[in-house]
Amino acid sequence: MSSPLPIEQPSTHPFTRVTVVLPWDLDPTLGAFPRTPAEGELLVLETRAKVHALPWHRQKLTLLVSALRHFVEERRAAGFHVEHRVADDYAQGITTFATWARPRSLHVMAPREYAIDARVRALTQALPLTVHDDGGDGGHFLLTRAAFETWAATQKGPLRMDRFYPELRKRLGLLVDAQGKPEGGQWSFDAENREHARGVAVPPIAWFEPDALTKKVMAWVRKVGAWGTLDDDFGWPVTRAQALSWLEHFMRVRLVDFGPYEDAIRSDERFLFHSLLSVPLNLGLLRPEEVARAAAEKYRQGVVSLASAEGFIRQVIGWREFIRGVYWRLMPGLRTANQLEATRPLPDFFWEPERTDLQCLREALSAVRDTGYTHHISRLMVLSNYATLAGLEPRGVSHWFWAAFVDAYEWVELPNVVGMGLFGTAAFTTKPYVASAAYLKRQSGLSAKGRGPKVAKHEAPCARCRYDPDQRVGPEACPFNALYWDFLARHRERLSKNLRMRQMMGTLDRFGPEQVEAIHQTAEAHRATLRPLAPPWTFDEDAG
Ligand SMILES: Cc1cc2nc3c(=O)[nH]c(=O)nc-3n(C[C@H](O)[C@H](O)[C@H](O)COP(=O)(O)OP(=O)(O)OC[C@H]3O[C@@H](n4cnc5c(N)ncnc54)[C@H](O)[C@@H]3O)c2cc1C
Repeated sequence: MSSPLPIEQPSTHPFTRVTVVLPWDLDPTLGAFPRTPAEGELLVLETRAKVHALPWHRQKLTLLVSALRHFVEERRAAGFHVEHRVADDYAQGITTFATWARPRSLHVMAPREYAIDARVRALTQALPLTVHDDGGDGGHFLLTRAAFETWAATQKGPLRMDRFYPELRKRLGLLVDAQGKPEGGQWSFDAENREHARGVAVPPIAWFEPDALTKKVMAWVRKVGAWGTLDDDFGWPVTRAQALSWLEHFMRVRLVDFGPYEDAIRSDERFLFHSLLSVPLNLGLLRPEEVARAAAEKYRQGVVSLASAEGFIRQVIGWREFIRGVYWRLMPGLRTANQLEATRPLPDFFWEPERTDLQCLREALSAVRDTGYTHHISRLMVLSNYATLAGLEPRGVSHWFWAAFVDAYEWVELPNVVGMGLFGTAAFTTKPYVASAAYLKRQSGLSAKGRGPKVAKHEAPCARCRYDPDQRVGPEACPFNALYWDFLARHRERLSKNLRMRQMMGTLDRFGPEQVEAIHQTAEAHRATLRPLAPPWTFDEDAG
């Protein structure tokens, strides 16, 4: 069998300035990329370690490999010399290549994962390698890592996104007047964006047809992939042209309703008015600034409301940048953060959704298994709300999110899951995002009392669930209710000190001891049904 790496003979190509391309750096107009073939060459790396590190969703594996190979094809067609190699890991791939090619210099955007970043930076001792910041001018993020640190150092107490985000708006001049004041007189219109989407018509997603290259990758993934549905109609964008066309479609068709229905849940509409742009953004196929400016432009043209434009822009330049800054600030401790000391292993139904009879959970988990995606409110208020209430260990939940979502990379899933989702740390979250069935009912359009109007039956998970969202205890009661009150009781000491939890803790205090005991028994009965699935996979967080 021949070696995949031609390392025996030095290269005959006169390599000059080589840019190393990692799988999430796919915008050739950014950073260290040569602008013309005469300015340098490209080294594109795939790694075996990464492919087998986690049981990646088959669509995610297809997406990453196909996007990288499309990049290679496109750059070659544009006249660039591209070395496309498979290595054990990125650092080894760079070293082997540099020994063979002996370029004058090598350049790489700072890798987005903690362990890979450390290994690649260590190479600068021995190789003529420059690591460029992945943020700031020419980067994939708006701020350099140092700029976020500078901001964070000025903050007292937990870092707060709502204090960070106005700085970014002012810096970019987005929806601000000449004095730096926010359009509409306030920075956030979040309070206006809480509608349920009962009966609302939702435009379809403009999925793409897989081309011959993607089909080839799909055939390979079917052999090596571990988990997740991969039908013939894989439709995620794999090129910058497709990403731009998705951006245009979202701005034209869906942004108008993004704001009002941002927090809605619908059984029959998995995507609602969400953009799905995290996929191309995180691959480097789109830049956050161009995405945010496109939304501001729609508002300027009078096509969308301020609440929709601002709501969307806040996600892209606020939450996304904030989460990435927090990741670098809190690593490596974030991986093991677990202030609530939750220890329960991940139940089997996260991998096999049919094994739970909670309708909302089954729907969210099925969406992930079928598409590698579910929207924010489903990630936060269904999946991680349940994980927090049931006392699942954050690291195990984080591994599942990382493997299962098409847009998941450690820099973004870990802070979201461990920090925002499971309250494993208080470093940047002021209270746990937990709720009982009443919230889930409301967001799926059911009225507060009873199971609500018939019209919502096919739209609202609670309307078809075998459990009753209005009961708190007993075998018919929705487990979210008992788990919720039992969670507050179990963490009474910590949560009573939290001003933002005061109202709910006051309600708990009004329950008599018998009621609290009945809640505990119902929660215990539910927890006793949970079965962990020992997957035949090892989870290697540092691989790649
Ligand atoms: C438990 C949990 C896990 C998550 N895991 C991921 C993940 O692995 N990858 C990921 O990109 N996002 C993650 N998020 C954030 C958010 O849910 C997704 O970015 C969003 O659902 C992606 O879908 P969309 O593009 O349709 O988003 P939209 O609702 O259309 O939002 C627009 C964009 O805003 C950005 N954004 C919004 N919220 C966040 C956030 N909290 N963190 C980072 N970016 C944000 C994304 O780039 C997104 O594309 C997670 C959130 C939670 C609560």
